[in-house]
Amino acid sequence: METFNAANEIQDLQYFGEFGGVNPSISDSSTYTFLSAKTMFDTFEGNADGCYLYSRHSSPMNLYLSQALAKMENTEAANVTASGMGAITSVLMEVCKAGDHIISSRTIYGGTYAFLKNFFPSFNINTTFVDISNFESIENSIQPNTKVIYCETVSNPLLEVADLKKLSEICKKYNIKLIVDNTFSPLSVSPQLLGADIVIHSLTKFINGSSDTVGGVYCGTQEFINDTKNVNTGACMLLGPTMDSMRSASILKNLRTLHIRMKQHSYNAMYLAERFENNGLKVSYPGLKSHKDHELMKSMMNEEYGFGGLLTLDAGTTEKANDLMELMQQENLGYLAVSLGFYKTLFSCSGSSTSSEIPEEERAAMGISDGLIRFSIGLDHDIERTYQKMKECMKKVGILNHETISIY
Ligand code: PLP
Repeated sequence: METFNAANEIQDLQYFGEFGGVNPSISDSSTYTFLSAKTMFDTFEGNADGCYLYSRHSSPMNLYLSQALAKMENTEAANVTASGMGAITSVLMEVCKAGDHIISSRTIYGGTYAFLKNFFPSFNINTTFVDISNFESIENSIQPNTKVIYCETVSNPLLEVADLKKLSEICKKYNIKLIVDNTFSPLSVSPQLLGADIVIHSLTKFINGSSDTVGGVYCGTQEFINDTKNVNTGACMLLGPTMDSMRSASILKNLRTLHIRMKQHSYNAMYLAERFENNGLKVSYPGLKSHKDHELMKSMMNEEYGFGGLLTLDAGTTEKANDLMELMQQENLGYLAVSLGFYKTLFSCSGSSTSSEIPEEERAAMGISDGLIRFSIGLDHDIERTYQKMKECMKKVGILNHETISIY
């Protein structure tokens, strides 16, 4: 039997445009006409397959992109949203009601953390943050009203890997939903195969890969997706984080090269991580044997796509990290910018940017040090050249000793 390969699933989809175009035609409309009033009524009631009512609910292009992403994540259905946060908040608002409780990994994207910590409690939905590798503490945190265990497959920014199989066993035992943000590891990890109930992505990152739009998606059962789009009660329908059709058309086109891009991001990141480590730098990358979750990641991933494009480097202090990032940008080695998955390398100091929502003491307890730089390694053609230039920058700012002898 052929084993599941997410890239094959995407490739096997065939769409034609309205006039036989090789890309599906974009429906540039927010509303749709009906030949009969009865069909309009039936569509409202959700009983008129193939009919469109209003683009906040559904549009042809959004359905195409959603279908491709559902194939990629091996779920029955999916729904694209205007941002990753639009997907995360819609899913959590759909699953949790006032009085419910969530268990979340403490190392997650700062925006998700802020939503759970600062925003949800006013709806009387509270979250316990845990070390996602400590199963005993997770089980001890479960309450009768716990509805969700939430985590990222590979966490932002610490690159800790969640043991999805083990977490899904716990969830099944207590009838809890496992919701996984797979933004850092598209194609390489398929959370649904490991037991996740709902898989989320910020499309803004690797999946779109052009840093020209924000977008999101959640993937799950057809029933769950329908519930979120219900005109009377659906969180996504009523909160309204709708992706624009033009944007979903461009993301669908970029999705087709994701498998090639992921291999190159991973190859380049592995290349740099190995060399930085040999230079005695404090580097963290799941592909390195020294990474605490290396074996776990290997057991969960499709090795073809590698260990991903993200690595972190501890420059020691914020000042040194800033000096290095500014110099690397001057030397055209990448951009001092948040986000990830672009063709150019992007770097930012997590503590003062994407994780700044997390209070300082909590960041320290998690291991997000002040000098921690998160690198999203680009698609550089000649990564040895990049490495040599980065090494020179590191020597100049005093992170790398001039006398360091390297085997490379
Ligand atoms: N999930 C992860 C892991 C992220 O890194 C981000 C953004 O950085 C998000 C979700 C939020 O996505 P968006 O910015 O598209 O709303």
